[in-house]
Amino acid sequence: MKFETIKKVILAAIMLPFVFMLIEGVVVIRTSLTQYRNLEKDRQFADVLARGGSIAATEILSEIGATREYLAYPSSRTVIDMQRSRATLDDERRAFYASLPARNVLDEGLVDELSALSLAYSRIVAARSAVDQGRYNNGSDPGSIYWYAALKQLAVVDALSPLINDPVLLEKSNQLMGIMLTYYGERLITGIGTRYLDRGPLARFPVELFVQGKVMIGEGMDHMVFHSATPIERDIVSYLGRSSQVKANAITDAILAGSRPTRAVHDVWAAAQNERMSFLQQKMIEAARDIHDTGENFSTRSHLHLTRILALCAGLLILATLVLVLAARGLRLIDRLTQDREALVGELRNAAQTDLLTGLYNRRGFEVAASALLTQAEHGSRWISVVLFDLDHFKKINDLNGHDAGDAVLRHVAGVARENFRSFDLLVRHGGEEFLALLPDSTPDDAAVVAERVRLAIELAEIALPSGERLKVTASFGCAGRANDGASRNFEDLVKRADLALYAAKASGRNCVVSGPVVPAPPQEERRKAASGGGFDSRL
Ligand code: GH3
Ligand code: MG
Ligand code: MG
Repeated sequence: MKFETIKKVILAAIMLPFVFMLIEGVVVIRTSLTQYRNLEKDRQFADVLARGGSIAATEILSEIGATREYLAYPSSRTVIDMQRSRATLDDERRAFYASLPARNVLDEGLVDELSALSLAYSRIVAARSAVDQGRYNNGSDPGSIYWYAALKQLAVVDALSPLINDPVLLEKSNQLMGIMLTYYGERLITGIGTRYLDRGPLARFPVELFVQGKVMIGEGMDHMVFHSATPIERDIVSYLGRSSQVKANAITDAILAGSRPTRAVHDVWAAAQNERMSFLQQKMIEAARDIHDTGENFSTRSHLHLTRILALCAGLLILATLVLVLAARGLRLIDRLTQDREALVGELRNAAQTDLLTGLYNRRGFEVAASALLTQAEHGSRWISVVLFDLDHFKKINDLNGHDAGDAVLRHVAGVARENFRSFDLLVRHGGEEFLALLPDSTPDDAAVVAERVRLAIELAEIALPSGERLKVTASFGCAGRANDGASRNFEDLVKRADLALYAAKASGRNCVVSGPVVPAPPQEERRKAASGGGFDSRL
């Protein structure tokens, strides 16, 4: 497998689990966020329900009670009580409106109910000024105005129910609604029943209002019985099962059926009804408080959720940083390994192609370099030459100064040759103390000139031996060249001719340069033929 591929695989191995974790983290955060939003929404609804319930159960009834007290017994005490109850109702109303969700999240039905409620409250405000101006001093009563507002308050509480997510809160909302409906139904029946009985046998029986009261009670009981089974409901059901309450119900049914109870029975009925209303009012307050507590609970839970979300985000951020740091480190490590590997491969390649003693090419390195050079030469160079040179009487140097001294001489001569051949000439240690140079784009005359320069440099060099002595050596040179036909990459013939020339140089007294005969380039036709059939002969 390629190193680049391994790098990608390692990176993928680091990043892939992280990507999965990241996706999972985002999903968990999204879910938590939704839960948090739902809790927050429900907390808000709990607040609205509790306040709405409290207004219908307490504040409206307090104000109507205080107003009636004032109208019956006007005094500074009753005025103060009435003003105080008005202020309380106004405060609660403001708090109720402030706790309402933004209008754009409310459905149309609820918005209509809220408009009707505002209208009902403005009628209360008008009734207040009428009371203050003494317009109710004729024995009339603003009760129906408050009654209407209370019913509208009830309708708003009811319309809020579909927006609630939490089943417990929904149950509690139904519970509150049930108690309120029952209470207001009882209140209607008691009020109109009392007035009807007080007016004597000639009074017209207000059957519609009576039936309306009964319907409200029925709906309220339905809400309680079908939608919830809380301790408050159980209390109410058991309370209504008491014998005094059962008896009161029987009297109510009798009145509805057209009979007229005696004064004593009337008193028993009125007492039981009033007691029942106080009881139901108490339960409404309890239910509203229960919803308020539920809202507090939601608030705590939503804060917990928020903390969890923040902790998750922080954890994810830390994780992301860690993984990124890890990935960066992994990448750096991979890059370093790649560089080390490339350096090692380079060193190994050099070692395999280099002569360890002289640092020149060995035969294998020369083959590779010569092949590349000849390929280039095909496109430009017209001549190619070879210079072969051999140290004179080297055996004697070894014999007289030792093998180490011989090695030092070889190293030094290689250095001199490297400096004096041209940068593009290829130099190889061809044998023990024999060196070969391939000179691209050079005629035999060029080669002879270069060879003479190197010969002179070797002759002039003073070589420091390991013993400290200094030594001078000479070398003999044989040159051969031919026109570059581009087809024959085999220059064995050239080496052979250079070898012959070298032999001639040795024979003619050494320390000189001899050039072999020049071989002209074959005609164009032959060159083409050779090019189509010829290949590189690496038997150098
Ligand atoms: P000539 O002038 O005819 O070339 O005489 P010569 O003594 O140089 O030639 P000959 O072929 O007789 O001797 C070559 C010597 O080179 C023999 C061998 O011990 C020595 N030699 C070959 N390789 C090495 C080497 O790597 N290190 C050392 N120190 N000597 C080497
Ligand atoms: Mg020699
Ligand atoms: Mg030799």
